Amino acid sequence: MAGSDGRSVVPARLPDDFLGRLVVDCPACGGYAVILPCDLSDVRAFAARRMVCRDCGAMREKPQTPNGASIDPFMGLAPRFRAATRHGDLVAWNEEHLDYLETYLSGRVRVEQLPVDPAGPRNQTIVSRLPAWAKSAKNRDDVLRAVARVRKERG
Ligand SMILES: [Zn+2]
Repeated sequence: MAGSDGRSVVPARLPDDFLGRLVVDCPACGGYAVILPCDLSDVRAFAARRMVCRDCGAMREKPQTPNGASIDPFMGLAPRFRAATRHGDLVAWNEEHLDYLETYLSGRVRVEQLPVDPAGPRNQTIVSRLPAWAKSAKNRDDVLRAVARVRKERG
């Protein structure tokens, strides 16, 4: 959360930073399922992945593509953390991603520390891709409420 001075400071992150652990709706029971790379050290988009449901034990696997083409790391399943507001949904891939968004959005003054590497992809960061309504100061309380609700109900 933001500091007592109302400032929130987050490091720039790319969406891929959260690709290693995806929380989705279980296709069997609608519960809490996690998709991990079969080889935990290989989070590349084409790597083989395995979904396991915490609630019913359902398991699914998606093998690595033979030619190195990207697969859908979500395996066609819906991200579990969709914070619904009347403006739209704010989607997080896992709890860490949700915390990151909340920390950033909770600040009355928000600072994204841009990449140390000046050649880094600045317009692809998570913050730069947030929809305008999510960043709008007048929607701040609505958005934070939706984030708190999705964490409580879907976590
Ligand atoms: Zn399940």
